[in-house]
Amino acid sequence: MTSSWKKTMKIAVTGAAGQISNHLLFMLASGEVFGRNQPISLQLLGSERSREALEGVAMELEDSLYPLLASVKLGIDPHKVFEDADWALLIGAKPRGPGMERKDLLDINGQIFVEQAKALNEVASRDCKMLVVGNPCNTNALIGLHNSPDLPARNWHALTRLDENRAKCQLALKAGKFYTSVTNVCVWGNHSTTQVPDFLNAKIAGKRASNVIRDSQWLKEEFTPKVANRGGALIKKWGRSSAASTAVSIADHLRSLYVPTPAGDCFSTAVYAKGNPYGVDEDLIFSMPCRSNGDGDYEIIDDFVIDDWLAAKLKESEDELLKERDCVGHLIPGAERAVCAIVEDTMLPGEN
Ligand code: NDP
Repeated sequence: MTSSWKKTMKIAVTGAAGQISNHLLFMLASGEVFGRNQPISLQLLGSERSREALEGVAMELEDSLYPLLASVKLGIDPHKVFEDADWALLIGAKPRGPGMERKDLLDINGQIFVEQAKALNEVASRDCKMLVVGNPCNTNALIGLHNSPDLPARNWHALTRLDENRAKCQLALKAGKFYTSVTNVCVWGNHSTTQVPDFLNAKIAGKRASNVIRDSQWLKEEFTPKVANRGGALIKKWGRSSAASTAVSIADHLRSLYVPTPAGDCFSTAVYAKGNPYGVDEDLIFSMPCRSNGDGDYEIIDDFVIDDWLAAKLKESEDELLKERDCVGHLIPGAERAVCAIVEDTMLPGEN
């Protein structure tokens, strides 16, 4: 059986003892993400805080007897853990504590990403791909990108796939259709409450979503906040933030890059906006509609229709990301020092 296996893929994961990883690691090891002929090595980054917990995670992985799991390496030094990594799933981040402002969170987590990006730049595979999950994920990814000049900027992603999955679910429920009939759904912008779930280009059973859901007030006024605030609503019910569905969406994100995107469909990922066809500031990590031919890479789809309503929404999310960028200028080599003007407290989906 192993003669048909591919070369072992090395996957580094941070925040590996956290809630999301507790679901994700087992999905990765089972082969359901990268395929049943793709052996993987897991390289898990913890901290002094999580040393014991991480050993517990490794014990559970060992006891699961996954044939595709070639090895599990644990450590607290990113320079060792990221060695030769093909993928870095950057999930670990400090959660916002009571009374902590968003600009403080940007700074504290930004520093984590400076350190990790520098380590990736030194020791990871030269084509390593990075997916930032830890919030604020778009700006953390931008910091990472600017601190890893030897890695391709286009290889940095921030996760907006959970938002896409939530948007598809709401459209399917409203239309009374199964979610597999909902396609071409992009969530644009920042992974925050300014995110823009796009119903204009979305299709349900091959028709424009607005021709199936003939309720423009619902689409404009209810759908967007419902998707953007889903994380908060879940915390109220469940008492903890979304971990299982986030892990599922990370798996979806990864699969989307290794399975060719069907014609007429897209997937959402926040990527470097350089050269984007929609006029978004080029030095941002901005979620956009993408497609892949299945080789792990992607291209930004350039023919999405943008009407005035959508354009105004995209601008709001872009403005928020520009403000976030101003707050982390001290963490971006060569950036101009700007004043951090974030006073409002935009909650992140999934954040309590
Ligand atoms: P957990 O709290 O369960 O785990 C977070 C991990 O982060 C911890 O295990 C810890 O690991 C690590 N960490 C790094 N720095 C610190 C610090 N200074 N203080 C405390 N912990 C730290 O979180 P989740 O797994 O539920 O979520 C992880 C991240 O994912 C969060 O930032 C969350 O907001 C984000 N998220 C993003 C989503 C998205 O769609 N983009 C959706 C849902 C969540 P260690 O001690 O090993 O460093």
